[in-house]
Order: sequence, then C-alpha cells, then structure tokens
Amino acid sequence: MIGLVAATAAGRRAADRLARTWPDTRRYDASASSALPRAFTECDAVVCFLAVGAAVRLLAPLLGSKHTDPGVVCVDEAQRYAVPVTGAHAGGGNELARRVAVALGAEPVITTASDAAGSVALDDYGADLGFAAEPGSDLAAVGAAVLSGDRVTLAADAAWPLPPLPPNVVRGDPEPQVPAIVVSDRAGVSGPSGPAVIYRPPSLVVGLGASRGVAAAEVTALIGEALGAAGLSPRSVRQAATVDLKADEQGLLDAVAARNWPLTTFPAAELALVPVPNPSEAVRAAAGTPSVAEAAAVLAAGPPSSEPPAGPELVLAKRASAHATVAIARARPRGRLAIIGIGPGARDLLTPRAAAELHRASVIVGLGQYVEQIADLIRPGATVLASGLGHEQERAAAAVAEAAAGRAVALIGSGDAGVYAMASPALELAGETIDVISVPGITASLAAAALLGAPLGHDHALISLSDLHTAWPVIERRITAAAEADLVTCFYNPASRERDWQLRKALAILAACRPPRTPVGWVRDASRPGEAVHIATLASFDPGGADMRTLVIVGSSRTRMVAGRMVTPRDYRWAAWP
Ligand code: SAH
Repeated sequence: MIGLVAATAAGRRAADRLARTWPDTRRYDASASSALPRAFTECDAVVCFLAVGAAVRLLAPLLGSKHTDPGVVCVDEAQRYAVPVTGAHAGGGNELARRVAVALGAEPVITTASDAAGSVALDDYGADLGFAAEPGSDLAAVGAAVLSGDRVTLAADAAWPLPPLPPNVVRGDPEPQVPAIVVSDRAGVSGPSGPAVIYRPPSLVVGLGASRGVAAAEVTALIGEALGAAGLSPRSVRQAATVDLKADEQGLLDAVAARNWPLTTFPAAELALVPVPNPSEAVRAAAGTPSVAEAAAVLAAGPPSSEPPAGPELVLAKRASAHATVAIARARPRGRLAIIGIGPGARDLLTPRAAAELHRASVIVGLGQYVEQIADLIRPGATVLASGLGHEQERAAAAVAEAAAGRAVALIGSGDAGVYAMASPALELAGETIDVISVPGITASLAAAALLGAPLGHDHALISLSDLHTAWPVIERRITAAAEADLVTCFYNPASRERDWQLRKALAILAACRPPRTPVGWVRDASRPGEAVHIATLASFDPGGADMRTLVIVGSSRTRMVAGRMVTPRDYRWAAWP
C-alpha cells in the first residue's frame, strides 16, 4: 500500500492523478503533521507533497533503520522533483521515486551513493538469490571502499549468478585481504580482521530422519552438532528435507520450524533411487527406502548430474543420535541465462525489463554492433563477449557455457531475440541446470508496421528470405502458402549483396494471388538513424531498394491505403452496418 500525503491544493491534484492510475494507494488528506506520521506507520511506502525539510522534521522521531523504514518520496509543490528521503533501497524509495517521476513528469533525485555510481548496493547484494549478510559485516566501510575505487578483494566458494562488482574488486581466493567481500557457507570463514562483508548463500540442505516420538530438543541438538562438525554456517541452510512418512513427526517439525527453515518431503520410492554412501537395510524395511537423511538432502539440493557442472554434493554423511539422523548436502548454484531482445534500435523502444536484465548481468554475449548499442546499460565490471556477424552457434554456446558455470549471462539480440535470432540456438543447447529468463523485444515487423500504418490488422505471416540455412524450395513453398491464404506477408532478410533475386521471386509468387494495386511497404533502419519509410504497390515496387536492413510488408488483397497509411481492415461486421 502506498500512502499519498497532500496538504495543498496542488498536492491534492497530483495525489488525485496518482490515485487514479495506481491501484495500490491510500489518501491521507489531513494536515501533514498528523497525516505523514500515520501514513509512515500504516503503509509500505509514502509519497508526500511536502518540502524535504518539513518531512524530515515530522519523520525524525519515527525513524527506525534503513532496513525497516518504508520508502518516503517527497515531491515539491510544482512537481518538478521526486526525492527519496528514507528507505531508498530496502524500502523501495528509489524505485518509487522513479515511478512517481514517470507518472507526474517529474525528475527523480537519487542521492544514494551506489546508484549514483551505477554500481551495486552491498546492502542487497545477492538478495534476489537469497544471500544474507552475516551480522557484524561492515557494509558501510566495505561499501565505501568499493565506491571510492579502493582495492577490495573477493573470495567465493562457488560462482553465483550475481551482478558484477566494479573492476576495483579483484579476486582474492583463498585468503582475501581487507577490505574484503566473502561469499561462503563455511562457518570457519569469519573473515580477515578488518572491514569485511560475509555473505551466506542459500547453498545447504539438511536431510533429516527420525523415529516415532522423537523430541524436538534431540533433533535440534543433532542439527547443531552436524553443522558444527562439518564447519558450516546455519545461515546458509535454505531448507530441510525428509521422507513423506515423517511429514507429521512433531519433534522434527518443531525443530525445523524453530530455525525458520522450509521443510520438503519426498515419497520413499523417490528417495530409494538416490545413490548414497550409507544405505541401510534396516531403514529400508521400516521406511521403504534404504536412506532418508542422505537421500532427502541430496534430492532437495537439486538434480543429479553425471557431467559437469556436477550435481549436488553430500558434504556431511549420515550422523545419528538415539532417535534421529541428519546429513547435509550442498547445492550447485544455478546459473542464469537472460535472453534479451533489445528492440529495433531506438532506446525508448527497449523495454525497462530488458534494461534491468542488462544491468543484472555479469557476462554479456552478443553481436558487436548490438553490444555497442546498449553499452551504457552494462554495469562496470561486466565481461563482454562480443563477436562478428555469423558465428551464431559460437555465441549461443559461449552464453550457455558461462551460465552453466554459474554466472549471470545476458545473451542479446536485436528486435526480439526469439525471432530469427539467438534464443533458438541457445535453448537447443541449454540444459536443466540453468535458469532461463526471456525478455521479449519489439521485432522489426512491429516497428516497421507502426511506421507504415496498420498493415498487420488481420492475419499475417513472417517469412525470412535468407536461403543460407534454409533451402530455397522450402521458402518458396511457404511463400506460396501465404499467397494462397491471402496473408499479409512480412519479409525478413529480404536481400543482401549475394542474395539479390529472392525478393523479386517472392513478390511474383504473391502477385499471382493478389491485385497489382496491393500496397507494399518497406522500411529501412526502423527507429535507427537514417530511417526510411516507403509505400508502393505490387505493380510499382522496385525490390532493388531492399537490403539486409530493410523489412518488407506486402498487404493482403484487403489491405488498402487510407490518407497515405497502409491499413489492413479488421473486417468487423459492424463496420458495414448503417
Ligand atoms: N531478431 C530480429 C530479426 C533478425 S533477422 C527482430 O526481431 O527484429 C534480421 C532482419 O530483420 C533484417 O534483415 C531486416 O529484415 C530485419 N530488421 C531488423 N531490424 C530492423 C530495423 N530496425 N529496420 C528494418 N528491418 C530490420
């Protein structure tokens, strides 16, 4: 819930606008001195139309910590600026200021240091992966060192799909020097003495078995002993796991709940298939699987893998007390492959989600010219693997290999990355061990159609005329089918220096089935510098004007010109009504 606090007429009008367009707001229109404190305590975030100084005076007695305070954004009387005052990161203040700025045409005034440097805030570094900073970590000192360009060393047990840190953060395994950033599930790593931040990744799974009536205290003691013996941090445990049969074993449930761990249970038959070092026939007789704790830990930690990257690893074999057993497995981090369409060219046709994913990635893979186009959206410290034209397979393989190694990878393509671009070769190679996120982009046919009018108002086909990887007879059969079906037809890759006859042939096939006056639109460099838009007819169109940067749209027999614009009617029945 976002509280809107407005005390003046202009403020109330602006608050009205936000309340109309945002579904999640609540108005506080009393005097600011009572409204702001109330909104601060009742809402997740607050927009107040008040001077920063006045807001600070009212909020001062209520401030808790930057981890818990809601984001408060002040907007000036003229609505020129949106200033996050509290909760910039954890409270979503910066994010809210940007939202307010878009809604009111104001400018966000972001003053937190890491945002200004385009760098990472250590407060929530890895937060989306479930990282927790070990209490006592010196976030302020290490964050300041990162921002001021000092040498900071980083040591990590494993590669996690994290955003990049700036180039002054260098690898320092196995013994980092202060100031240091350590990513580890090992309890022994207390960090070097001096400013350090230790992140606990959610890498461990505790497998548990128990006999009927076990006491919570016994399970708790056994878990503590096991973590201690293995030298592992409880903060890195992401869940506990056991067999279905124990899903109602109160002592086990209580011990797990006391740690705030989620509990996953598996059918005995599934656990029986997991290879473990210490199977037991006695356990098989009682539970239907030769292993509960070891098998449940390994199974919950992820799919097994016989080839690199390896699957989960059992880091602590079964230990038992009188009525309970425990084992610990470590999951392999899952890499992240974002497949991103960057749109046809213009920056404002690149989606905010694409920008966020580019910002999130530590490895960028793409054609050199596209990487250049979005270079400003890449975070300092990211690795760029750019390559020249062709080499699609190599680019796809490189992106998948980097993600399989645990990194956060962005594979970029122009327009939409799934349309005659990188998504298919990448996903033909990608296995189950990585997460894939696809961000749609505005494909050339949409960008061109918008410039031409409304040529795609009814059924249409996209056809690539490139016969480099598809035999021409196959392409010709598809064009013939589109012609016979009277589909509006968009031609990608219409011509190049070596391919100069295909477009002429394609148009001849269409011309056999639709009238000579059928509109043909073609757009070169849609939304890029030098953009050129032309409209002709099937009879007058000269295919010589098309090249690799051109998209051609041939209308259906219903497409016509209206006031200079290409329109394919929806053919609504009601349009014909008197
Ligand atoms: N993934 C891209 C298409 C790649 S195929 C997309 O979704 O748009 C390359 C072809 O797309 C080019 O030969 C051209 O026909 C077309 N194309 C891509 N961008 C274009 C643009 N800005 N203007 C005109 N045509 C474009």
